[in-house]
Amino acid sequence: MKGEVTMKVCIVGGVAGGAGAATRLRRLDEQAEIILFERGEHISYANCGLPYYLGGVIKEKESLLVTKPELLQDRFRIDVRSMQEVVSIDRENHKIVVEDKKTGRRYEETYDKLILSPGASPKKFPMEGIDEEGIFTVRSVTDTLEIEDYIKNHDSKSAMIIGGGFIGVEMAENLKNRGLEVSLAEFTDQIMAPLDKEMANILHGEMIDKGVQLFLGRGAKSFKRTESKQLDVTLTDGKVIGCDLVVLAMGVTPESHLAAEAGLDLSVGNSIAVNEQFQTSDPDIYAVGDAIAVTQGVSGVEALISLAGPANRQGRSAAASISGREDNNGRKAIGSSVVKVFDYTAASVGLNEKQLIHMERKYRKTYVHPQSHAVYYPGAMPLYLKMLFDDEGKILGAQAVGIENVEKQIDVLAAAIQLNGTIWDLERLELCYAPPFNSAKSPINMLGFTAANILSNDMPVWYAEDLEEIKAKGDAIVIDVSKEEEYLMGTIPYAVNMPLDSLRENLFRLEKNKRIYVTCRVGQRGYIAVRILLQNGYQAYNLSGGYKTYHTYAMDIDQLMEKQKKKEFLNNTENALKEQKEQSDSKACSNQTRMIEVDACGLQCPGPIMKVSENMKEICPGEHLLIRATDPAFASDIEVWCERTGNSLIRVQNIHGTYEVEIEKGRACEVNAANAASAGNDKTMVVFSGDLDKAIASFIIANGAAAMDRKVTMFFTFWGLNILRKNEKVKVKKNVIEKMFGIMMPRGSKKLKLSNMNMAGMGGKMIRSLMVKKNVSSLEELIVSARESGIRIVACQMSMDLMGIKPEELIDGVEIGGVATFLGSAETSDTNLFI
Ligand code: FAD
Repeated sequence: MKGEVTMKVCIVGGVAGGAGAATRLRRLDEQAEIILFERGEHISYANCGLPYYLGGVIKEKESLLVTKPELLQDRFRIDVRSMQEVVSIDRENHKIVVEDKKTGRRYEETYDKLILSPGASPKKFPMEGIDEEGIFTVRSVTDTLEIEDYIKNHDSKSAMIIGGGFIGVEMAENLKNRGLEVSLAEFTDQIMAPLDKEMANILHGEMIDKGVQLFLGRGAKSFKRTESKQLDVTLTDGKVIGCDLVVLAMGVTPESHLAAEAGLDLSVGNSIAVNEQFQTSDPDIYAVGDAIAVTQGVSGVEALISLAGPANRQGRSAAASISGREDNNGRKAIGSSVVKVFDYTAASVGLNEKQLIHMERKYRKTYVHPQSHAVYYPGAMPLYLKMLFDDEGKILGAQAVGIENVEKQIDVLAAAIQLNGTIWDLERLELCYAPPFNSAKSPINMLGFTAANILSNDMPVWYAEDLEEIKAKGDAIVIDVSKEEEYLMGTIPYAVNMPLDSLRENLFRLEKNKRIYVTCRVGQRGYIAVRILLQNGYQAYNLSGGYKTYHTYAMDIDQLMEKQKKKEFLNNTENALKEQKEQSDSKACSNQTRMIEVDACGLQCPGPIMKVSENMKEICPGEHLLIRATDPAFASDIEVWCERTGNSLIRVQNIHGTYEVEIEKGRACEVNAANAASAGNDKTMVVFSGDLDKAIASFIIANGAAAMDRKVTMFFTFWGLNILRKNEKVKVKKNVIEKMFGIMMPRGSKKLKLSNMNMAGMGGKMIRSLMVKKNVSSLEELIVSARESGIRIVACQMSMDLMGIKPEELIDGVEIGGVATFLGSAETSDTNLFI
């Protein structure tokens, strides 16, 4: 290097913060001597890309190495020293001790300024068996290559991920895409902590849909390698999951030991304390990246934000500061982040609701569910947006989940937050619009409109979590202003249907002394209804985000997992049947069936169903209809619709969030042999009574019909629900009335009474003993047989809500459904009993 050296800067850590600081420093100071120490083999690599290398998305290992050491040396004249670990700092003499990892030799190096960017290391809690072979963490290229080799050498077929943060979720997706069976255990009740639970639930659904087994509310307790070389992971609830390898993704912890040993001040979570110029408590030592504490930009409190963007910016700022430049980047960070979860994207910024509650900070919130671009332009996808703000209109945080244009919304909101924007600024924001990209009223505008309506009290709101309290107060009416068809496809508990277009004529049915809680599909028609009601002298509130938000709030993950297992089983059976049929009858099925294609993307329920119905009228029996829709409810609705209308559902495929559904008109070329056998002969039963004798009779008839190959649906409502209750007490949260109901009603089949001659329970005992003598199966055995022979046992959602019965209290194998489920079955039945 020519010229006099201005200063000597040593940098510890050669990746995001360190490499960024080194190159910026060179651009600002041609004469400085810069030495970059990295204890690993690689410098400036793409840690964010590591999971995608394992998933095969990034094909070449070399692509992970963002900047080659030669480039740093030749272009930037940086002395790059990989495999060299800085082991101590002698602050008084401005020296560091370095260990050459290849030879073990130690040597000293002086510095004028020192930058620490040592990052954060994966958390590894002391658990039994944690050092077993086959248990990995993912931080570096070396870690990733080790996992790659292990999978190849051991022909690994299954993996267990511990932790549902960014890295855990990305690893789950990539290992699944690679063909492994993947399970993920997360200690809290949701994955992706930056999101609130109802938003994370959408991702839970997606992961389950893509075949990942989720264990929420359960962490790993111990690991054990069995004789068959399998790794047994014991979870905190005692469940043991066997797998071939484990990835620990339980979070990261700042690597501050070097700083601590040198006597530098530490901050939250043992991070290195720095000032606005990134100087530590020693003005000649700077620190950046995952190892330092930042100021959370919205709350102003010290926080750890381990992201690549802030690390890179901080490296630049520290270099500027060392070169004597005024740099006002500061160390504020608002945590703008995004993650891909199979076909979904989730992004967030600022504070979430959990944090605001924890901080006891007052906040407001709004949910909107717009489409990713103009509804009428093909391919629009649903977006789930949530924004938190305060009474002054300040934006506190936001979350977005969807398939397309998700991070775009959060990027705009991140910019608004950093420029001290308010919700009124969002109303006025002018954003790019053309149908393929956005809507004229963009999702960001919609957030602004709804938030402003809330603050101006034009739209008083209520939220999904208020429902139980509202109902308990008893002075409220809940109305769903959706169309009747939509209402039948699903609504919130207690809601009565009063479609918006006939609301004005029906106002006389609503008592003025009651508060009216309104819901609709996404909150838009609810808003109009609330405006009508307010101006007619009612106290009315709109459910923010409508049924769509309630649905995500009330999502039962265990039930989803159960449903998914059944679906997989049915799909496998159906595929096997289809294959068999194709082989034995290739001629019959190779006829040239006409197929018409319909695009219903962007339409909300019941739009796609109505499109199906319209187009089916245009085709002949045996011809096929291929319809694409993005409404998540469509996949289940179409099943019910096909059953009700006697059409055959050939396939439902989720392709990057678009449901592609093929239907065959009529029943000329059925794929599902089971359906063929039962067409028109189904049996439906409404089991209303909870009497022992009636319960026995209903299960005997049901089992008999199933034995004749008939499809049977038993719909349990009101007192009949008691038959399905577990005999043992289940710990669930209930209000006072629900508890009283629970105590007064018989808990399970063994506590049922006879409708006649019960004689304080004697009658029941006599009947049961007679049944044993006469070799008649007991009620409990009949229930088991019913489940085994595929009888659909459906518990009425509305009655459960009324009587305070929770899903956990019901025996296994019970489906929860509404009137649409019952009617769907009844319409293909020739016998419908009311017992
Ligand atoms: P690092 O990039 O971790 O670099 C620190 C380096 O210092 C390490 O290589 C370490 O070996 C070295 N070192 C430590 N101590 C010494 C020493 N004493 N002597 C010499 N060398 C030392 N962030 C995002 O924003 N988006 C993402 O999508 C994303 N995905 C990620 C995926 C994975 C798998 C991982 C691991 C991280 C991901 N991150 C992501 C986080 C992001 O990579 C980090 O926030 C960022 O790299 C932090 O930069 P840093 O310089 O502080 O630390």
